[in-house]
Amino acid sequence: MKPMNSFMPTVQESLQLSVVIPIYNEEKNIFNLYDRLTGVMQTLGEPYEFIFVNDGSRDNSLALIKTLSQRDEKVRFINFSRNFGHQIAVSAGLDHTRGKAIVIIDADLQDPPELIIDLYKKMQEGFEVVYARRRKRVGESYLKLLTAKWFYRILANITSVEIPVDTGDFRIMSDKIVQVLRNMPERNKFLRGQISWAGFKQIFVEYDRAERAEGETGYTYRKMIRFALDGITSFSDFPLKVATMSGFVVSGIAFLVMLYALYSRFVSHDTVPGWTSTILSVLFLGGIQLISIGIIGEYISRISNNVRGRPLYIISDTNVETKPDTMPQHAQVF
Ligand code: UDP
Ligand code: MG
Repeated sequence: MKPMNSFMPTVQESLQLSVVIPIYNEEKNIFNLYDRLTGVMQTLGEPYEFIFVNDGSRDNSLALIKTLSQRDEKVRFINFSRNFGHQIAVSAGLDHTRGKAIVIIDADLQDPPELIIDLYKKMQEGFEVVYARRRKRVGESYLKLLTAKWFYRILANITSVEIPVDTGDFRIMSDKIVQVLRNMPERNKFLRGQISWAGFKQIFVEYDRAERAEGETGYTYRKMIRFALDGITSFSDFPLKVATMSGFVVSGIAFLVMLYALYSRFVSHDTVPGWTSTILSVLFLGGIQLISIGIIGEYISRISNNVRGRPLYIISDTNVETKPDTMPQHAQVF
């Protein structure tokens, strides 16, 4: 099948595995990760490639990746012109994989590379996606664990797509799934949801999530909130329905209050000064209206983001094939 926007990275028949690694300030982890990944690939004994996507790191990550790419022809890299965010970095990697099975893995060694062996084995049983599900998470802040836990459960409840709880993007998937992702045009990426949405046979393998090996998290709370909103708005209209529902509920209450007001004006003639009830209803209505407008705004901002049609990412430097027919339309290359 030819993909809709008609770009397709040159397929090397022999290539079996592609590993996509997003990199944001990971200078202390890169060599270690490379060694462990290489060990895993040698155990598997299949032809492979690594795709490092440098997402605007401010440290020495790029130089290290380039060093690796000079030493090892299996190392391919994409260097962004700035920080575009984790999901876009992974998407850019997926745009250029050539393997039949594709792995997404974090660079900070929180996702143990050795688990790829299990993921790959499970895939051979006939699954298109095998994701790694976290049994335990060590060394992360209480607030992060709690927000993550609740976020995944709320999301699972309000979406029609079954997005697995307690999973990140660490997984292996077939080139079929990657083709589906490449042709999903939305700009606000929520890959784990998009992958569930694709369907086919999917399964998980459980693991204990380790601590970040070195360096600091690149996910600030700000980025996490934006990511969570992307997940919700991409896969659920529930917030919009809540806005509508609260409109109905409040209107119902207002109608009752109106009857009461008419009754006390014309029947019981006990019209009172009523400052408290006035101010309460004004504040209450104002609050509901602002929340509803805010919810609608979240959806509209994503619509306008998609309509603007800017490049999804800009590549300043790479050793992947950059001919127009191997580049997606949403990528700009220099
Ligand atoms: N990352 C990225 N761009 C960003 C933030 C993070 O490419 O803007 C990469 C980062 O280098 C790592 C992965 O995404 O390989 C996961 O990020 P991180 O470990 O900081 O997130 P956490 O595990 O704390 O949620
Ligand atoms: Mg991490």
